[in-house]
Amino acid sequence: MTSVTDVTPSVRRVVLSATSAAAAAAGPTVSLLVPRVGDPAPRWPDVARDGRIVWPPGSHGVSLRSYTARRQDADRGEVEIDFVLHGDGPAAAWAAAAGPGAMIAAAGGGPLGDRPAGWLLLAGDETALPAITRILATAAPSTRGVALVEVADAAEEQPLTAPEGVQVRWLHRDGTPPGESTLLADAVAALDRPAGDDLFAWVAAESAAVRAVRADLRGRWGLGRVQHHAIGYWRRGRAMAPAG
Ligand SMILES: Cc1cc2nc3c(=O)[nH]c(=O)nc-3n(C[C@H](O)[C@H](O)[C@H](O)COP(=O)(O)OP(=O)(O)OC[C@H]3O[C@@H](n4cnc5c(N)ncnc54)[C@H](O)[C@@H]3O)c2cc1C
Repeated sequence: MTSVTDVTPSVRRVVLSATSAAAAAAGPTVSLLVPRVGDPAPRWPDVARDGRIVWPPGSHGVSLRSYTARRQDADRGEVEIDFVLHGDGPAAAWAAAAGPGAMIAAAGGGPLGDRPAGWLLLAGDETALPAITRILATAAPSTRGVALVEVADAAEEQPLTAPEGVQVRWLHRDGTPPGESTLLADAVAALDRPAGDDLFAWVAAESAAVRAVRADLRGRWGLGRVQHHAIGYWRRGRAMAPAG
């Protein structure tokens, strides 16, 4: 790791240093192998040729978690990841404790699931903000649409570069705990379906919120499978996978 910056009160940006090849492969979504904080000797798994993770037997002190490379730079050997500091969980705890020299590993990357379209709907919470940042930054300048981003409050907003025709709307929970608000579902429910079929919706947030938005998009908007990607990025009250 090369640097740690607190970009907002609850988001910590970590720049990981890696070989060029590893930096190129680690994203846009990245499977992180997160060592338990304070464990002097985590036992790292192997990654088989087919990408399968081969865990050592017994307690090993390493947890697998999905994150997003907000930025990847193969030339500089850097991968930038924004961790939401939600307090609990191996990954959030690792980021909260991280300083220069801290170790973490990546076990491969995958796509974001977005698709170019004339009209885009992006809807997500702070865990989806790195992906939304990437999608907006690479969208064609002619793209139109709406980006809905749910965050705790105004202090959690981040600058976004978006095509002129995409309206960015910040939704503030203002005291409602993360995972308990209906802001995203309500905001989507208030949108009229754009005309035509050249549209794509990308949705990522707490699982229940995503289910509600997905139902609206499939039902009222009539979006087919190739017109949307809606997945839960975390589950309220439940770890995404067992801690190692
Ligand atoms: C493809 C993908 C990309 C992702 N990209 C990012 C990213 O770039 N940045 C990012 O911060 N997250 C991202 N996430 C979400 C992240 O993987 C989860 O938040 C994960 O649960 C964090 O792991 P953990 O070890 O900290 O907590 P876990 O051990 O999984 O959970 C422990 C507890 O924390 C709670 N919890 C988990 N996440 C949150 C949260 N955001 N707010 C409040 N409570 C929470 C759980 O409900 C549980 O009770 C992504 C998820 C996916 C699937």
